Amino acid sequence: MDQEEILDNYDGVVKGLPEVVRIEPASICNLKCIHCPTGILRNEINRGIMSLETFKIIIKELKDINPRVVVLYHGGEPFLNKNIFYMIRQLKSLGIGFVKTVTNGMLITQKMLSKIILSGLDSIEFSLDGKSEEEKHSNTGTSNIIKNSKKKKNSINPKFTENRI
Ligand code: SF4
Repeated sequence: MDQEEILDNYDGVVKGLPEVVRIEPASICNLKCIHCPTGILRNEINRGIMSLETFKIIIKELKDINPRVVVLYHGGEPFLNKNIFYMIRQLKSLGIGFVKTVTNGMLITQKMLSKIILSGLDSIEFSLDGKSEEEKHSNTGTSNIIKNSKKKKNSINPKFTENRI
C-alpha cells in the first residue's frame, strides 16, 4: 500500500502490516554520549540485552508480517548482544530482503569483520557522532574501523559502499 492509498483509506485506524520492523538486540551501550538517552539514562530506565527466547518469539511473528526491511537497532549498541550474528542469519533465512544495523563500531574487532560479512547483513552504519575529535563521544579508532572494514569487505564483496552524511 503506498502513501496515497493509506491516506485515501484512512478512517482513524492504520491498516496493513509494517514494511519496516526495528528490533533492538541491546538497549544498553558501552558508551555514555551526553546527547543520547541511552548514554545518559543508563540507570533510570529498564534496559538490557535481548534474550534469544524473546528474539525467537519475534521471529515467529515476523513470518506473518513479512517485512521488506528489518533494522537490528533502536538506540543501544547491537554488538553487545553475543547472538547478533545468529539474529542476522535467522532474519536472512526468513527471506527478509534488507537487514541492517547501526553501531558505534567500538566493539568490532578485525576477526568480527569476516563474521559480519558472511552473516548476510545488507548494510551497516557506523555512528561517528561528531565532526571533530573534541565533539566525538570517543576518539578511540573509529576511523580505523571504517578503513579496516572497507578493506576487508572489498576483498569479498566488491559492492560494498561507504556512505557519509
Ligand atoms: S554510541 Fe550511540 S547509543 Fe551509545 S551512547 Fe553514544 S549515541 Fe547513544
